[in-house]
Amino acid sequence: MEKTVNNKVNLQEQVRKLKEQKNAVILAHYYQEPEIQEVADFIGDSLELAKKAAQTTADIIVFAGVHFMAETAKILNPSKKVLLPDLKAGCSLADSCPPDAFRKLKEKYPDHAVVTYINCSAEIKTLSDIVCTSSNAERIINSIPKEKPIIFAPDKNLGRYLMEKTGRKMLLWDGACIVHEAFSLDKLLEVYKQHPSAMIIAHPESEDHILKVANYVGSTSGMLHYVKSSEHDTFIVATEAGILYQMQKDVPHKTLIPAPAKEDNTCACSECAFMKMNTLQKLYNCLKNEDPEIILEKELMEKAHKPIKKMMELS
Ligand code: SF4
Repeated sequence: MEKTVNNKVNLQEQVRKLKEQKNAVILAHYYQEPEIQEVADFIGDSLELAKKAAQTTADIIVFAGVHFMAETAKILNPSKKVLLPDLKAGCSLADSCPPDAFRKLKEKYPDHAVVTYINCSAEIKTLSDIVCTSSNAERIINSIPKEKPIIFAPDKNLGRYLMEKTGRKMLLWDGACIVHEAFSLDKLLEVYKQHPSAMIIAHPESEDHILKVANYVGSTSGMLHYVKSSEHDTFIVATEAGILYQMQKDVPHKTLIPAPAKEDNTCACSECAFMKMNTLQKLYNCLKNEDPEIILEKELMEKAHKPIKKMMELS
């Protein structure tokens, strides 16, 4: 039986050694645990990581994130080995858009352009004209001719926010992220009362009532940039709490408060259980055993690549 390496530092050292030996790169999302972010070669949001995945010369990509992100990395690198520490690390938002139901909607509106948020399965991407992330969504929507009607999927909150920003009416898929729908407005306003000088910042996957009270709405990287460049020193942050690790590193002297969740939990904030399925031990195991691997059919990858490529050209 394989000996389990328990010690965090030892485990991180082993991961770094294996990475070197195997010419592997570790891409980690901001929502990953700090001990994973510490051994990553690149940390970023969906768009930044997709760009890194497209540029890498490594033989193996270990994607410390969720399934659709690793799939995107594979689609961008069909000949490389792409590993995900836990194959069960899914996404409630991606799961809220099953391909068969979405295909039916698309068939009902054949004249519509289909714009999909990157948080969807590879199969949904094959049904899309163009993919977007929260960093570039506005630009992508604006690139579509004004007279062309649009279906936007799967996130209805982001879709509603984009309709307001761009003035475009869109047909929205009724999907959402459980983490971004978990914020409590009442509790948030309570926290704000205790910190009246705080800026409220939110990810556009959050519900409308949260976005309405936010001083800034933007993607994960947009929020990081805002906090760094703002003259304010206290922020209430409405997105997955994992972002706070990188944010605090960027602004050690500023106060960051996670927006409270409706449910009482140990950290009183919102965490993505899917993202947290990856652990340092699983990362080590997957790099050592080169498993679990993301395997996709060639035809699926070719079809899904087109709308991602279009997005990259516009980003
Ligand atoms: S935070 Fe939401 S959208 Fe992001 S991976 Fe988790 S469930 Fe999916």
